[in-house]
Amino acid sequence: MSKLPNITTSIFTVMSKMAAEYNAINLSQGFPNFPVDQKLTTIVGQLATQNSHQYLPMAGYPPLLNKISLLIQKSYGRTPLPENEILVTAGATQGIFTAIQALVESKDEVIILDPSYDCYEAPVLLCNAIPVRVSLNDDYTPNWKKIEQACTAQTKMIIINNPHNPTGKTWELSDFDALENILVQFPNILVLSDEVYEFITFEKKHISAHSRTAILNRCIMVSSFGKSFHVTGWKIGYLIAPEHLMIEIKKVHQFLVFSVNSICQIAISEYLDLVSVEEISQMYIEKRNYFRNLLKGSRFELLPCEGTYFQVASYASISNENDVDFCKKLITDYGVAAIPISTFYENKKDHQLIRFCFAKDDITLAEAAKRLSKI
Ligand code: PMP
Ligand code: GLN
Repeated sequence: MSKLPNITTSIFTVMSKMAAEYNAINLSQGFPNFPVDQKLTTIVGQLATQNSHQYLPMAGYPPLLNKISLLIQKSYGRTPLPENEILVTAGATQGIFTAIQALVESKDEVIILDPSYDCYEAPVLLCNAIPVRVSLNDDYTPNWKKIEQACTAQTKMIIINNPHNPTGKTWELSDFDALENILVQFPNILVLSDEVYEFITFEKKHISAHSRTAILNRCIMVSSFGKSFHVTGWKIGYLIAPEHLMIEIKKVHQFLVFSVNSICQIAISEYLDLVSVEEISQMYIEKRNYFRNLLKGSRFELLPCEGTYFQVASYASISNENDVDFCKKLITDYGVAAIPISTFYENKKDHQLIRFCFAKDDITLAEAAKRLSKI
């Protein structure tokens, strides 16, 4: 008996393990390999010698809750209430799981856009609810006609992800208009807005669900300090939701983790006074451009990348084998690991697309591009 018969080991684990086995450059799983800001590591070192080792309040370290509220205020012009509307979570993954467990009931339908990151479906299935996959358009914009057609009286939640993993696509104002229109028609639908790359956008500034007052009362926004401050292993993020939803979410949170790592919370809280989130996009736009330029002479065709630290590339002019096999060959024969895009779909699509993570130091990117350019 399995509660999740079709869920297997995540592609990120599979590819990172294989990269290590073959000593390949790992551009598969999304994590930075460059040093964390010394200001942040210094704070952690100091905290380790102080009395910062015990449980913090369940919803989060109060100064951190205040600073998240301020961050949202500065970024999107609204001020969520620190005590009632913000929850510090053990990464976005726990935030997403917790929100779904708290708010989705048996037989509810939850719309997940295809392709999508892998952590949405399992929590929906564990609620005995029904994931309803709706394909994005070919350019990875939401297909609002299809989304609207998929909404029923049973639809409890639409999960959105902007900026989008794996494609780096970002939403336009018109997408939010279309989402609002659906919420008006279906008063029971909630929105789970995965914005873990909120501070990694390039030509356009990120538009958060938070900037739309008509959505706010029905929206759970989730983000990740792991992504923003290059500390994915810390597993620390936050949820923001209106109080009536947060009351339910906290009921689950207190029995899932109770409270999140004390030193990481205090460190992030102090670090937020020293750092400007605008610098994050600036750093990554340089990396994106550097990596794209290095691959210009290669046979990979690079898709647009508007945000996140992922670059999708087509290898159609190199091979017509499926992307999982191609990624394995990239590791074994060329020493570079990537992620096959088909794994982000419910029904694996037959196309020649793979994802590279460019959150790496320049030497790593240059060596990876050198190997990829030989293919
Ligand atoms: N959502 C998306 C779109 C992601 O790419 C990731 C991976 N970081 C997560 C959620 C999970 O974030 P965390 O590592 O903070 O749990
Ligand atoms: N979010 C990361 C990615 O897309 C993976 C994180 C994980 O392995 N759970 O690569």
